[in-house]
Amino acid sequence: MGSTASTPAGPVEAAQRAEQLRALVRYHQHRYYALDDPEIGDQEFDALFNELRALEATYPDLHTPDSPTQRVGGYVADRFEKTRHPAPMLSLANAFSPEDLRAWRDRLHRLLSEEERGRLAYVVEPKFDGLTVVLHYADGIFTLGATRGDGENGETITANLRTVRSLPLHLPADQRSPLAPPARLVVRGEAYVDKADFERFNARQAEAGERAYANPRNFAAGSLRQLDSGITAGRPLKIWVYQALIVEGGPALPSHWESLAYLRDLGLPVCPDIRRFTDDDFDALAAYVDAFGRRRHELPYEVDGIVIKVDSLGMQAELGFTGKDPRWALAYKYAGEEAVTTLLDIVVNVGRTGAVTPNAVLEPVQVSGVVVKSATLHNEDYIRDLDIRIGDKVVIKRAGEVIPKVLRPLPELRTGEEREWTMPETCPVCGAALVRPPGEAATYCVNNACPEQLVRAVEYFVGREAMDIAGFGIKQAELFVAQGYIHDLADIYELPWDDIRALEGYGDKRVDNLRAGVEASKERPIHRLLTALGIRFVGAVVAELITQHYHSLLDLMAATPEALNEIEGIGPKIAESVREYFSVDSNRALIEKFARLDVRVAEEAPAAPVGAQPLAGFTFVVTGTLPTFSRDEAHDFIKAHGGKVAGSVSGKTSYLVAGESAGSKLDKARQLGVPVIDEAELRALAGEA
Ligand SMILES: [Zn+2]
Repeated sequence: MGSTASTPAGPVEAAQRAEQLRALVRYHQHRYYALDDPEIGDQEFDALFNELRALEATYPDLHTPDSPTQRVGGYVADRFEKTRHPAPMLSLANAFSPEDLRAWRDRLHRLLSEEERGRLAYVVEPKFDGLTVVLHYADGIFTLGATRGDGENGETITANLRTVRSLPLHLPADQRSPLAPPARLVVRGEAYVDKADFERFNARQAEAGERAYANPRNFAAGSLRQLDSGITAGRPLKIWVYQALIVEGGPALPSHWESLAYLRDLGLPVCPDIRRFTDDDFDALAAYVDAFGRRRHELPYEVDGIVIKVDSLGMQAELGFTGKDPRWALAYKYAGEEAVTTLLDIVVNVGRTGAVTPNAVLEPVQVSGVVVKSATLHNEDYIRDLDIRIGDKVVIKRAGEVIPKVLRPLPELRTGEEREWTMPETCPVCGAALVRPPGEAATYCVNNACPEQLVRAVEYFVGREAMDIAGFGIKQAELFVAQGYIHDLADIYELPWDDIRALEGYGDKRVDNLRAGVEASKERPIHRLLTALGIRFVGAVVAELITQHYHSLLDLMAATPEALNEIEGIGPKIAESVREYFSVDSNRALIEKFARLDVRVAEEAPAAPVGAQPLAGFTFVVTGTLPTFSRDEAHDFIKAHGGKVAGSVSGKTSYLVAGESAGSKLDKARQLGVPVIDEAELRALAGEA
């Protein structure tokens, strides 16, 4: 398949072609995003998509609200309108143990007749930890989407939801399906971000000096509540649909399980981890709930428990509510993840950039089998916004391997003895005044001579990503700074080795090895030294980009922000940060000191490749795992053939070279219409057989 049609001769042909293209694009989007089973390559898909976009641009009348081209976003709202939900959104009663689960079942047995008990069955589904949304379809067309809001009224975020790729704008999503769309359909679902996509996004944000999100849930919520849907379109949002609220003009659906099957048949994304159990099989249900709890950290999406519902909608109606909680549903929360303990104190730690982070000192408590004594509190605003006070009982969470964090205080347990906390005015290590730059969440110790900053800076300098000095870590950094051997980073190359031999635990062999490691690091490529300096926003990727253009750090010192900004992948924020760094005299002196101590600060520009330069004039971004090239080899290959390499996809990117497990860069390329090629196609472009 592919797009072979020539430009339509007139409006009628154009309308026919647009209809055909919309159907094709929808079909392939559904295969790709909902079924994860694409039939055509990215390039073919892009060709269809771009042809449709071009047609709609030429004939604006052809532009329909459900056109797949709407997914690129671009609608900017002043504020969100309110939508009244057709039925109030529910809260669920909680269960925390297998005993609670059985007690709930016993209660159902008492409330139901013997005949009903014989038909009793349950649906078990993950309790997704995202943002609840309500989606409205009229005659199969997605017309309105809203947040949960206060349960009765939500915020209308239709334009933003249109950008979520796994959400069909048109039902049935597969145009070949024989199903007729219902006249009216309202469903409930959860918008979320996969854990891996979240990590990738945050890593990029951190490197670019942008705000990082605390967890996938906040990220999903923040992304959906953007007034500019163009921003939402750039976020890796997904949706699971898990409840039919209203079905008019559709089949009779007597049970939750059947309604889920119907939603799935219409092409709505229904999570495959949903199960049905009969009442006779309640032991199997309990075993499933238990097993799900043990594997929940391995799921690609975040859950905060599992929900068990009575399957029959008739029985649901009969069982009704106690207060706000339906009797027919239960949220099972897994033990261990969260715990309540006392916040004994808040202390601040100084990092290598001087950023000062508040940390919680906790009454030790067991969480998921580990004793937790401290937890992160992120920054000053986090503590103030949640009104966390010293002495509070706080809920802490430890999930997987991440650092435990304080989720919230329990103000209802306050005794009146609790104390509010404020960020200290001076650095706890060096006593210098702390500064919080306007518009930033972080507070900094701006004293360049702060010993704690120096220890952290040395630790970073010698680390894997940077100068990679074996045997040199935080212990050595602390010791050598404390001994007065290191006052700036270049002192690492002037360590008094004879004195070190006299220190306890530093025998000849150990010192010789350490010294050899330090000597060897002098020859590292200059992008590593640039990374090691720890300039804000200049991580390993950015440093490599810069040193493709500046082959000497001495030249880089003299570069203007404008010149840096010219480099593909270097934005104004990074350029300004580099300028600021080199505007400080002591930093310039540091580079000169490195040069004097024979640390490589310049390298020869790569020899101009001889022969044909078939990739000249093209800029490439490489992502995912390629079949034979490593990332570096692919970069070298592109450069050797005259092409340029960039770190992120933008309008200036000519091609995205994508391998296995390509992530957000692939999404970005699709949105921007950047052609996506594989390794073989790259080789072919470069003229290799
Ligand atoms: Zn300090």
